[in-house]
Amino acid sequence: MASPARELLVIIGSGPAAWTAAVYGARASLNPLVFEGEPMGTLLPGGQLMNTTEVENYPGFPEGITGPVLMEKMKAQALRFGTRVVSENVQSVDLSTHPFRIRPNYSAEVEAYALIVATGAYAKWLGVPNEERLAQMGGGVSACAVCDGALPFYRDKVLAVVGGGDTAMEEALYLTKFGREVLVIHRRDTFRASKVMAERVLSHPKIRVLWNKEVVEVLGYDQITGVRLADTVSGERTDLPLGGLFIAIGHKPNTEFLHGQLDLTPHGYIKVKPWRTATSVDGVFAAGDVMDDFYRQAITAAGTGCMAALEAERWLAHRGLGESPVLETAEAPVPASEGD
Ligand SMILES: Cc1cc2nc3c(=O)[nH]c(=O)nc-3n(C[C@H](O)[C@H](O)[C@H](O)COP(=O)(O)OP(=O)(O)OC[C@H]3O[C@@H](n4cnc5c(N)ncnc54)[C@H](O)[C@@H]3O)c2cc1C
Repeated sequence: MASPARELLVIIGSGPAAWTAAVYGARASLNPLVFEGEPMGTLLPGGQLMNTTEVENYPGFPEGITGPVLMEKMKAQALRFGTRVVSENVQSVDLSTHPFRIRPNYSAEVEAYALIVATGAYAKWLGVPNEERLAQMGGGVSACAVCDGALPFYRDKVLAVVGGGDTAMEEALYLTKFGREVLVIHRRDTFRASKVMAERVLSHPKIRVLWNKEVVEVLGYDQITGVRLADTVSGERTDLPLGGLFIAIGHKPNTEFLHGQLDLTPHGYIKVKPWRTATSVDGVFAAGDVMDDFYRQAITAAGTGCMAALEAERWLAHRGLGESPVLETAEAPVPASEGD
């Protein structure tokens, strides 16, 4: 049996972190191979920005840019410097051996001297009718207040945040800058959030809390007009008119394929060394939302993608690797590559 193709640098993921790592890796002659993933539920090659319309806070685009176009440009930049792309999910990795072993869904296993994990995270949705449809078409439903709250669409409207943790509190407070009134919809009668955050919300003159209520449907055809609520105690249903809805019930990092081989935080994010992207396994680096449960922005994902590529390059150089563009490639890399 032919031995697996051996790569200097493999990058898993396809959001801002992965493409930035690829740009840096390719320009440093590391000839990176990117596994960009395949459509799987709400996960799309290109990452979370594929599910959003206007991005107004990514530097360099003063008029704003749509999420999918921004991602297309990032990928094109990585391809320009010779990045090779495989449009498959990585199913599993073996980090107990070096070079690491990377197992994609369909094509042959690949070996990698250095690995960057940039598989991102996904925002949890409620799973109620019209929610994700309106979110994808920019119709007034979002999973990120910091990203979308400042858009003209939400100005001076009655906005609602669903959730009861610290993220929901932060999003509600942030939205008071833009909305006429902010409602927090919570299915219990107390918040899970820290006391200090809960108190800031409860004492804010623009915020009102709807306790013991859950959203059972988002109302509206091409943009939100309101939500249908169910009282979690009495079961009574009421319609609430709204101009915008923000879901803040948590995120889940995409780390299942690692099968516990990297140390994770209690919330399941990849643990990295302080101000570095190095993980618990030497030679494996993590970038973007898969290691960041705090900032969760495209620009920070891109920034850590840059850091991961620079760290990987130095790590390889210290081991005498990475001087030549192609290294011991036993045979042509796996098929379905866009950038070959
Ligand atoms: C609705 C919404 C709107 C947003 N708007 C903004 C905004 O306006 N501005 C802003 O700065 N940020 C915004 N964000 C946040 C931003 O999208 C994220 O911070 C950023 O995309 C994170 O980038 P990432 O590279 O870490 O990974 P992601 O964008 O999460 O992409 C990772 C990708 O990797 C791939 N992948 C996952 N697992 C595997 C696997 N096993 N094998 C191969 N590939 C895999 C998937 O295709 C996945 O989509 C928004 C987020 C959401 C949800």
